[in-house]
Amino acid sequence: HLDRIAQVDTAVHAFLHVDTEGALAAARKVDADRVAGQQPASALAGVPLALKDVLTTEGVPTTCGSKMLEGWIPPYDATVTRRLREAGVVILGKTNMDEFAMGSSTENSAYGPTHNPWDLDRIPGGSGGGSSAALAAFESPLSIGTDTGGSIRQPGSVTGTVGVKPTYGTVSRYGLVAFSSSLDQAGPCARTVLDAALLHEVIGGHDPLDSTSIDRPLPPVVAAARQGADGDLSGVRIGVVREFAGEGYQAGVLASFTAAVDQLRALGAEIVEVSCPSFTYALSAYYLIAPSEASSNLARFDAMRYGLRVGGDDPSLSAEDVMSLTREAGFGAEVKRRIMIGTYALSSGYYDAYYGSAQKVRTLITRDFDAAFEQVDVLVSPTTPTTAFKIGERVDDPMAMYLSDLCTIPSNLAGNASLSVPSGLAEEDGLPVGLQIMAPAMEDHRMYRVAAAYE
Ligand code: GLN
Repeated sequence: HLDRIAQVDTAVHAFLHVDTEGALAAARKVDADRVAGQQPASALAGVPLALKDVLTTEGVPTTCGSKMLEGWIPPYDATVTRRLREAGVVILGKTNMDEFAMGSSTENSAYGPTHNPWDLDRIPGGSGGGSSAALAAFESPLSIGTDTGGSIRQPGSVTGTVGVKPTYGTVSRYGLVAFSSSLDQAGPCARTVLDAALLHEVIGGHDPLDSTSIDRPLPPVVAAARQGADGDLSGVRIGVVREFAGEGYQAGVLASFTAAVDQLRALGAEIVEVSCPSFTYALSAYYLIAPSEASSNLARFDAMRYGLRVGGDDPSLSAEDVMSLTREAGFGAEVKRRIMIGTYALSSGYYDAYYGSAQKVRTLITRDFDAAFEQVDVLVSPTTPTTAFKIGERVDDPMAMYLSDLCTIPSNLAGNASLSVPSGLAEEDGLPVGLQIMAPAMEDHRMYRVAAAYE
């Protein structure tokens, strides 16, 4: 895999940092253990993995795709990183991402965009475009992403790979650099559903270091992926969300979705149409809640504690001057836009109208899910309305960019489980399309079973 990275990553740019030394040392340790006759640490011992650069890695740079953290070497491992190491997983390096995970194309990275291996002129999705492109380019068989509004599933969809957003609270956020704390969730990316499930089991489970971690056993995702492989979905009720179709959806995406639903029916599932009327407001609510939380979380980048400091040596400058010069130079345009939107939405006089209303919509969306899951076991939709768009096509139009996450955001707002599994290629451009499968919170195994049967 290191050779493959050396061959193709100049063109793909999935990696921000390749940790050759660390990877070889981890691999040699697995070999030595095997020679010594020891049991492997996990089913994934010795398997290479690419880690999104938003998770801290002790002794290895972590930039979050931002100039603000250039040169920062974390003194500790995120819980996800630690669990990977303990499982004998070989971490190849850190993957490119939109700055602080804000974006849908990886074009907001301060280190240049990642290219979609299916067509290098197109985006690999975002914010975790590097993690998904690394899979599609065969640079790594496994990767880790984080999903605040779709950043695991949408890159999975447009690169023809599997991406899973676990139930909120089931994968630790300790050491995951915060964007929007009530939405952020790390999860597995892989080329098959079973690989994703095996990785999910390694990284998931309760963590006392994360105050929102759920103290309950992880849903049985590996068993479900194995069960689904028999291809029998009889007795499973699948809901098609009526609101996720129509205007703005590419014809080839809708055709692929219809074919996927037919296939699920042919596997024995009962297909039911359901309506979730509040989902129409999910995008608007998200773009108030996520920037609000971001404006608070990103206050820690104050030029004093981490990374970049501009003007620190100039005695004529006040601490406030240094802070604003550093933030001016260190943050990119999208991050600044989010901080301003969030600060505005939280300001007194506007708080109730914006942030408060968005929180009410969030509750309505959760209720829509609850009502739907009384009728069906899982819900399905396209993962994203279009296939991979051209690099540069949406950079000047934030609204068009935000639409990429139309279908993925409701599961973040409700905190339930959702994944994207490849569902063929769109007729008009031959590019990958994804099928999104959503399950109630702590019922992640349901979507794994359906995805494995469908795959
Ligand atoms: N594209 C969405 C955003 O820009 C989601 C990002 C994410 O899931 N991290 O906020």
